[in-house]
Amino acid sequence: MAGVMIGIEVHCQLNTESKLFCSNSNDMRNKKPNESVCPICLGYPGSKPVINKHAIELGMRIGLALDCKIADSMFFSRKTYFYPDMSKSYQITQYEVPLATEGYLTVGDTKIRIRRVHIEEDPAKLMHVGGDITNAEYVLIDYNRSGVALAEIVTEPDFTTPKQVHQFLDNLLSILEHLGVYDSSKEATLRCDANISLDGGERVEVKNITGFENVEKALNFEIIRQNGMKRMEVKVERETRHFDSDSNTTKSLRKKEYEEDYGYIFDPDLPVIKISKEWVSSIKKNMPELPDQRVKRFVKQYALDEYTASVLIYADKNLADFYEECCRNYNKPQTVANWMMNYLLKSLNWRSERIKNSKVRVGTFVELLTLIENGTITERYAKELIKEYVDTGISPKELMKKSSSGKIDLDAVVKKVLEENKKAVDEYRSGKQEALKFLLGRVLVATNKQADPKLINEALLKQLGASIAQ
Ligand code: ADP
Ligand code: MG
Repeated sequence: MAGVMIGIEVHCQLNTESKLFCSNSNDMRNKKPNESVCPICLGYPGSKPVINKHAIELGMRIGLALDCKIADSMFFSRKTYFYPDMSKSYQITQYEVPLATEGYLTVGDTKIRIRRVHIEEDPAKLMHVGGDITNAEYVLIDYNRSGVALAEIVTEPDFTTPKQVHQFLDNLLSILEHLGVYDSSKEATLRCDANISLDGGERVEVKNITGFENVEKALNFEIIRQNGMKRMEVKVERETRHFDSDSNTTKSLRKKEYEEDYGYIFDPDLPVIKISKEWVSSIKKNMPELPDQRVKRFVKQYALDEYTASVLIYADKNLADFYEECCRNYNKPQTVANWMMNYLLKSLNWRSERIKNSKVRVGTFVELLTLIENGTITERYAKELIKEYVDTGISPKELMKKSSSGKIDLDAVVKKVLEENKKAVDEYRSGKQEALKFLLGRVLVATNKQADPKLINEALLKQLGASIAQ
């Protein structure tokens, strides 16, 4: 019994200025459909591709970060297929000799082997109108994406659970962001194909799943579906399926073709590129700090525990950047980490927002921590305030002014409670300490539990003392 076997292919849009073989911009923000195109990326006959060196270097960074061997030369091949997303009827990709091979990435205690990393061009984007790929009324084609540089990262089938795949993707994303090879804020995409087989049977490929949660859902569904087939003694066939995120199920697209069917040939328009040892070592020397190294540094520099450091760094590179920027402005690394982990992250997650696209800023966040530290607001109130702050981005000081519950006039509340509870006041004066606790509880309720019990106690004693002296 081989159990569940899963292997994935990840397509990462590389953070280059221009496309892989022409000088059109790679930045898709505010672009109308079919605006960033030219004869090369539209595949006009006679147009000649010119390789973007930066794309190769970014691919090398990925290979090195995943502990791969880098090939000593590279060339491109044509993968021939007929489909409206590819106007020249072949995709320029790497097949026989990929840029990088035989690496690994560890997830928890499991080593996931990386089979290959190669560079290829993206096809055009198809928009299915009035349905999905299986039932749309018609299809629109946007060639802006055509010819954009991608790195394809292929793992060996080393995963045994969908959850592991999800974790792997989180780690991989953080690595890609730290390497500077991927920038989601430029509307870049990260797409995943997942292959899964049960008990040594044929594998099924679920194509083009967006969102890591969806990858996990698609795989969980496949395990149930394939197990069901086994129970009914129906053989699983090799096929390509599509994940439908409305129903959380997969649907059949086509019986899977084999790689040999694509009739790969060497692309005569592009030269063989030699990758010298010097080139590789200069890339290695200039590698940015990787997540694992950053975790170690956080533990040392900010005295965080490893778990906290890992959450801050692996959840999202920008979150770790935000943390460091806060620490530069507010020298209490543990307090910053606590408030980020326990409250900021929760509010962001609740809104399904990433910090970079949110309204949260270092200046205003540090302002909140300062207000708590100098006792202007209680921690309890800050926990409420932070939700509104994440929602609106309005500075905590402004929010306090706006909200009446923000600044509790504790003295006024205490005065009112004392007037309303004359019996308890008399009891306290006659030496019954219990009465003070009762009054404290009344004040707490009257402030909607926003006031700090310590401060209430002080205010109570002050006023009770004052009335004794009268
Ligand atoms: P193809 O050549 O059709 O693209 P590959 O052999 O290159 O197929 O594998 C593609 C992906 O499928 C890889 O991520 C690999 O790990 C995965 N894979 C291969 N065999 C299996 C299997 N038996 N079960 C699950 N995944 C598999
Ligand atoms: Mg493949």
